[in-house]
Amino acid sequence: MQFDTSFPRRNTRQIKVGSVAVGGDAPISVQSMTTTKTADVEGTLAQIYALAGAGCDIVRCTCNEAEAAEGLARIVPRSPIPIIADIHNNHRMALAALEAGVHGLRLNPGNIRRPEHIKAIATACRDRGISIRIGVNGGSLDESLYRKYGGQVTPEAMVESAMMELAYFADVDFDLVKISVKASNVPLTIEAYRQLAEATDFPLHLGVTEAGPPPAGLVKATAGIATLLAEGIGDTIRYSLTADPVEEARAGRQLLEALGLRERKSVDLIACPSCGRAEIDVIDVATRAMEAFGERQIPLQVAVMGCVVNGPGEARDADIGIAAGNKRGHLFVRGRNVAVVPEGDMVEALVEWAEFIHEHGVDAALARADTAVAEREARKDRQRLLEDQGEDANNSETRVELIRSTITR
Ligand code: SF4
Repeated sequence: MQFDTSFPRRNTRQIKVGSVAVGGDAPISVQSMTTTKTADVEGTLAQIYALAGAGCDIVRCTCNEAEAAEGLARIVPRSPIPIIADIHNNHRMALAALEAGVHGLRLNPGNIRRPEHIKAIATACRDRGISIRIGVNGGSLDESLYRKYGGQVTPEAMVESAMMELAYFADVDFDLVKISVKASNVPLTIEAYRQLAEATDFPLHLGVTEAGPPPAGLVKATAGIATLLAEGIGDTIRYSLTADPVEEARAGRQLLEALGLRERKSVDLIACPSCGRAEIDVIDVATRAMEAFGERQIPLQVAVMGCVVNGPGEARDADIGIAAGNKRGHLFVRGRNVAVVPEGDMVEALVEWAEFIHEHGVDAALARADTAVAEREARKDRQRLLEDQGEDANNSETRVELIRSTITR
């Protein structure tokens, strides 16, 4: 029986951001934000293309001044993915972004506070069929809510901020909405989203704000986003990293693929942690393999294993893998040895076989291989390593014996 790896998703309404559906049964989408000046049309477009290539579905650009709005008018028609304008304190910038043709807006209720301004924006969006994200941010919570909740940011205060904004929207009959309640504190963020998911059925945009630079930022963002996704909460996600936004898109995409929430698009590179048996520098070979695959869209699991003694067995589920032994690389497809290459050619061979499998399938790869010869050579190298290193290459059993004799002495 196959293990069911799917996470049940919370039922949400569906909205559109340009051509991308968010909520309902739409795939969970990946978002990021450009770091260029939006007035710099060519620079911003170059970043948007890089983001789209890394798996970003929707991109946000700041619209903080007239020049930015004008930039958006030039960027939107040439962008490969829908664009959301990030609005700060000036409601006129929201109206200007709509004139520029953006596919969505992001409003922070802590920034634009006057009800008539909020309603004017919502009315304009309603008339154009454009969606808005209510982006509550723990760090810029409405002052009155901050005071009401005892001078601190609480999940309740963040949810109330979102609900107040929704009420203004309802006054003008606008409901093309998704919501986020981000904080830089992970448990606070998780609890705020849980409460929000109970309170509404609008689609939710997940993120941990100001997570910081990788790797700590990646860990924080993943802790928050993955916890919620595993609970079925979340319809679109963004990693907020202090890094090249391409890293945000890549991380978002990889998280969704790892959780089985999006179809695999790129290589899933696995590698053994290395040990006393390793015949190569596993970190170096795995890093070079990752670089060689780059952004290539090859949706296969690829393994780099340090030794032929255990590698092919430990990574038997990988579509293609390579294990080192006796200055040679032993290639295996779904656990079956298919070829032997010199150690220096391991990465190139891995990429070549992965491309072949991607194009022609596993059966064709096995059919083109002389598996009998490859298995014989692997057996020979395995045997040789066992003779050189013995069964206990990591000296574990020797240490266990030593411990036992120390204790019983
Ligand atoms: S036994 Fe071989 S495959 Fe397993 S961790 Fe050690 S080197 Fe890697």
